[in-house]
Amino acid sequence: MSPLARQHETVIIGGGIAGLACARQLHDNGRPFLLITEDVGGRIHTSADGTVNLGAYYVTSDYHHVNRFVDRGRRIRWRRVLRGDQDGSFTRGNMPLLLHPLQAIRFLRLMREFRHHHETFKQDCLLISQDQAIRADPLLWGLYEEEAPEFIHRHRIEDIARSYLAPGAQGTAFTSVDRLTAFTLLVGVLPTITPAFEYTFRFDLLMSGFEEAVVLDSVTDITPNADRYSIRTRNQGSFSATNVVVATPIDVSARLLDLGLLKGPNYAHTFLIRGNLRRPWAQATYSLFPEGDPTLGIARQNGGSILFCSVSEDPDFGHYFSTWEVVEHQHWNPAFHLEGDILLECEQGPGLYLVGDHNVCNLEDSYVTGVYAANHILGDSGAAKRGTRHDA
Ligand SMILES: Cc1cc2nc3c(=O)[nH]c(=O)nc-3n(C[C@H](O)[C@H](O)[C@H](O)COP(=O)(O)OP(=O)(O)OC[C@H]3O[C@@H](n4cnc5c(N)ncnc54)[C@H](O)[C@@H]3O)c2cc1C
Repeated sequence: MSPLARQHETVIIGGGIAGLACARQLHDNGRPFLLITEDVGGRIHTSADGTVNLGAYYVTSDYHHVNRFVDRGRRIRWRRVLRGDQDGSFTRGNMPLLLHPLQAIRFLRLMREFRHHHETFKQDCLLISQDQAIRADPLLWGLYEEEAPEFIHRHRIEDIARSYLAPGAQGTAFTSVDRLTAFTLLVGVLPTITPAFEYTFRFDLLMSGFEEAVVLDSVTDITPNADRYSIRTRNQGSFSATNVVVATPIDVSARLLDLGLLKGPNYAHTFLIRGNLRRPWAQATYSLFPEGDPTLGIARQNGGSILFCSVSEDPDFGHYFSTWEVVEHQHWNPAFHLEGDILLECEQGPGLYLVGDHNVCNLEDSYVTGVYAANHILGDSGAAKRGTRHDA
């Protein structure tokens, strides 16, 4: 069917990892669709010179779906990370863990158990919604309902939380630990116990065979209409579909679907810099900062450029650099929604699906939500053919 035909079985709105995952799964099972998106990639965004990801920065070895579509780059080694403490000092690598060995043992045990449950959860989410899968696992559901500070106190890991987890949360979640649930905190710090890598995303592989089904446009409205949905766009007029998969950032989805409460938003500015870092940041590959610091992270790239991430639009670069030139700047407004325990259901009506990172924020969990929606559309025959389940 021509992409610009007006009637479709399925329309996917949004061409980030979640929408593209849905498209990949439908295409692999021989089902037609139209994908309408403002851009391809969404928050996977590489600098114009192709050297650094200014949005999603790393993948981990647990990203079983996403890893099929990336060229892995440098491994993120924690011994090369400098972590800032509230007192202004910086410690290298796993020093905060070594200083508190009993807390470190308790923390690593908790992380191992969490990782195991998270792996099973992702498998389950291919066939049941995230909402149902979290509620079905007492450990995950407990963590989703527990505030992170309570969790930290209950497990007596306060020192590690301050000197190790807080800079990690600042660098990956762009917020402070006390604004997160225990579940979101542990998802955010999973890369500390899982091999993590920089990457180049291969959209050519992910989109292979369905490039023609993608239309660049902006959806302004979704209206139920008898047994179909009418989808209005800014430039190409209206389309109709039996199934609609909404894979836009959650603030946009909330507008399109008239959703109620959302998690709180987090903001960031990422800058690609050419210049010379001052000490101590010049001596580390990655630098993380204490809670409340406007700087979120610094990553020195192999080619000599530097990724600088801040909550400020106009950071005090002179504090960190002896010389600098801003080559590129990206404002993530918002970057994601992480604060609070709102849990949204994927099925928003008959044939109407909400996918993306609104419940669990990272590339792999977002991918899985897209596959889930596709599997639902495919029904039994699709589930039998889905072929994307990974045995642990
Ligand atoms: C700075 C930053 C760093 C991150 N770091 C990591 C990391 O290192 N590792 C990790 O796993 N995750 C990371 N994340 C999170 C990760 O990027 C997201 O969880 C994931 O990309 C979400 O994918 P998505 O498809 O749900 O949404 P998006 O990628 O936002 O895709 C949404 C799509 O919808 C389209 N769209 C929006 N509005 C409309 C409309 N009205 N009509 C049509 N289309 C529309 C957009 O053009 C876009 O293509 C990071 C995010 C940010 C911002």
